[in-house]
This record gives sequence, C-alpha cells and structure tokens, in this order.
Amino acid sequence: MSRTPSSLRPAPAITDAADLGTVLGVWAHPDDEAFLSAGLMAAATEAGNRVVCVTATLGEHGTAEPERWPPERLAAVRAHELRASLAVAGVTEHHLLGLVDGTCAAQPHDALVWRLAGIVGAVAPDTIVTFGPDGMTGHEDHQTVSAWATEARALAAPRARLLYATTTEEFVQRWEPAREAFDVFLVDGLPLRTPASALAAELRLTPAEVDRKIVALRAQASQTGGLIAAVGEERFRQWWSTEAFVAAESVSARAREWGTWRVAA
Ligand SMILES: [Zn+2]
Repeated sequence: MSRTPSSLRPAPAITDAADLGTVLGVWAHPDDEAFLSAGLMAAATEAGNRVVCVTATLGEHGTAEPERWPPERLAAVRAHELRASLAVAGVTEHHLLGLVDGTCAAQPHDALVWRLAGIVGAVAPDTIVTFGPDGMTGHEDHQTVSAWATEARALAAPRARLLYATTTEEFVQRWEPAREAFDVFLVDGLPLRTPASALAAELRLTPAEVDRKIVALRAQASQTGGLIAAVGEERFRQWWSTEAFVAAESVSARAREWGTWRVAA
C-alpha cells in the first residue's frame, strides 16, 4: 500500500474567514477589493477579526468618458464609493496610497515596498490577500501591487499567510458567456484557473453573504452599475459567489512567466 507523505499532501483549503486571523488586503483600484474579497472581508469582520484594506490608486482614469469624468472629479466619486463599500463589509481601517491610476509600475519600486512594509508591520496581519503576479486581469497596476505586497510581507511579516486571488474552472465557465461583451481580462489565457485541490482558501458565500457583497459592489456604481445591469443580477450573483485564493508559495515558480504578461494600463 502506498501512502502520500503528509508533508506532500496539500493542506485543506480554509473555508471559514474566521480562521484567517487579522487580514490585510492590498489592492490597486477601488472595486478590486470588493470583487475579489468582499465576502471574505465581511465574514471576517462579522467573526470579530480585524480587517485592514490598502488601495494604491483611486482608479480616476478608468472611464470611457474622460471629458464628462475628469480625473479629479472621478477620484472624488470613487473615494466616496470605496468608503461606502468598505463600510458594508464592516471594514473601517483603510489606507490610500494616493498614487496616480495606471502609474504603479512607474513608481519607485523600493520606496513603495518600504511604504507598504510600514503598513504591514503596523498591522501585523496573520493573512495578506492581494493579486497574484498575473494581476488577475493582466492589469499592470495589479501585477505591480502584487509584487509590492509580496516583498513587503517578506520584509515586515514573513510568517503571515500570503494569499493570491485566483479563479476556478467554475468561475471561468460562468463568466465565459459574458466575455465578449465585457472583456476585463486583458490577455488570452486569463483569468488563471487554479484546481480546487490546490486552493489555500475557498469561500463559498451563503446567499446572505452574496447579498452583502452585491451591496458592497453596488456601492461602487460608477464601476459596477453598467456591468450588473447588462449581465443581470442573478447571473452576476452566481459569478461572484465564490472567492478563491492560492498560497503564494505554491505559485512562485510560475511567477516569472506571469510577469511577462505586461499590459499597458
Ligand atoms: Zn483594478
């Protein structure tokens, strides 16, 4: 009889946000945190865990109508929306890095890593959640924030669990019908699918938790309103009802390959 040594067997995925301890989320733009972790943040705060969120930019250039929404106007709107959205998830501690949308890769890398390391050190998280090196959608800001968070954790909280947002085959199948109309994924091959057996955390949100996540997402209407209306709320709910994460250690060997997926913001 052959048995897999226990050290080679993957640990079972965390399915209860209460088990994540103090959580620090590190994201690039308003709504990244809501799409990828609103359920996690809400469940964690509900369980009494501390949750802190970092957002690098206000996404002020993310509009198809820049004349109607000049950057300073859109930045103000998105700052209000983000505060409201985080409040829905029970998150009251938030850090804005105040960078210009789309410029993360052009920022002085070491300075940003140290700045983030200062926050990581002060929060002393048990778990850090962020993008993987793929940046989920291939957005360069996302990829850059992933690199900063990864280095900041190594400097300031090397024992903290580092989780990268990922998707499952189920998510991709649900999303595929909308892909043509809403191609938020900038590179063929994205989003990356992680086999369920390789997930470090998988939160399957209850209907009440999805309700709360939808409220958090709707709070950021300047980014989510059109999408929800076009996809239809029922399909949108199905689509975003699972939040999946992979441990940084299990993907690091592939990071260099993903890092070549640089797409202009
Ligand atoms: Zn983003």
